Amino acid sequence: MTPQTDGGAKIQTVFARCPDYSEANLRPALEAVLSPQLRYHGGVRGRSVMLKPNLLAWRREHDPACVDPRIIVETAKIFLDSGASRVAVMENPAVQSVPAILRAMGIDEELKKLDVPFAGFRDYRKTEPPEGVRFHDLEIAAEYRDFDFTADLAKAKTHGMMTLTMCVKNLFGLVNGSARLGWHLSVGRDFDCFADMLLDLYLTIRPAFNILDAVVAMEGNGPGSGSPVNCGFLCGAPDALALDAAAAPVLGVDDLVLLKRAEARGLIPDFSTAGDEIRIPPLVLPDPPDTMLEWGLALPPLFRGFMREHLIAKPVLDPEKCVGCGLCVKMCPPKSLRLQDGKPAFRYNECIRCYCCQEHCPKGAIRPKRPFSMRVLEAMERGIRTAFLRTGH
Ligand code: SF4
Ligand code: SF4
Repeated sequence: MTPQTDGGAKIQTVFARCPDYSEANLRPALEAVLSPQLRYHGGVRGRSVMLKPNLLAWRREHDPACVDPRIIVETAKIFLDSGASRVAVMENPAVQSVPAILRAMGIDEELKKLDVPFAGFRDYRKTEPPEGVRFHDLEIAAEYRDFDFTADLAKAKTHGMMTLTMCVKNLFGLVNGSARLGWHLSVGRDFDCFADMLLDLYLTIRPAFNILDAVVAMEGNGPGSGSPVNCGFLCGAPDALALDAAAAPVLGVDDLVLLKRAEARGLIPDFSTAGDEIRIPPLVLPDPPDTMLEWGLALPPLFRGFMREHLIAKPVLDPEKCVGCGLCVKMCPPKSLRLQDGKPAFRYNECIRCYCCQEHCPKGAIRPKRPFSMRVLEAMERGIRTAFLRTGH
């Protein structure tokens, strides 16, 4: 369900102190950040909710790579107590399966007892982009559309590429793994481009409920290998971008690329802040972005260029259908398309794979073509996930 950000009520972001994950502290803090959101959406009675937690890997208690398990369980309970007809947990962790992570967290049996199923995303489909979207070829897990509401449960973590990851970045988990890698490789150091893609995901999915877990956050070498830091608060809002905009300065980051791009595109909704006043030392930020990609993968620039070429679909022309109208050239944001002998010619090293050319071509003469290596990687990914599901890892 889309938050009413256009001409509707002002978005309220709520901060709640929460010194630890004990039930006595967590439950009231969660209620403080969720109750206004429930009121905003008119409740969830008889409606279904998909929880999308940020799960990477669970290696120790309160591992800051993941949203804390108590938040998943208590949020599910609050929705069920509020009359939700169905609550499920869905995510696409980079390495392990969802059941394996929830088992390692020690909450799989508790979720089963609550009748809250959990699973990995599997049904990736091209999504009809809403107004304002720049990237038109995003394949997103379609499962979220089977629910009335999506609840985005994000961890506050530093991020080698985007500086901070919060609720908007958590939506990247709805893009399948091979495409995620392709995106990282494709944008290279063009972080504005990556931010624009994340904002397009936000515009497409628009999670109705958003909770940021900054009870124990991650600082330093995030998002996978940073250090835990006790920030002692939760933040909630019925809009992911408003939440990120409210929480980033509290965490000590005033110049987030994502928010700069959102501001330039006029996307940040009018919001207010309420609840507890949070004053904490700024997070220790990661080293400046260089060759580090998500999942801590480091690639030399030359190899990255090669991977970019081979791991992301590129637009190709059907010259038989093309009538040489030049509209695609006009619509290409980085001007990587030129008319040559009356037909568009692609300069792939400058192409950001936004597919505006494909969208605007009146003759259907441009289509995305997946490179062979990308199809091989996708097949391998499917195979590995199936094997993991069989063995329960
Ligand atoms: S050629 Fe231009 S419009 Fe087409 S996908 Fe590449 S950058 Fe986008
Ligand atoms: S918009 Fe389509 S028909 Fe027109 S020049 Fe581009 S590819 Fe050809």
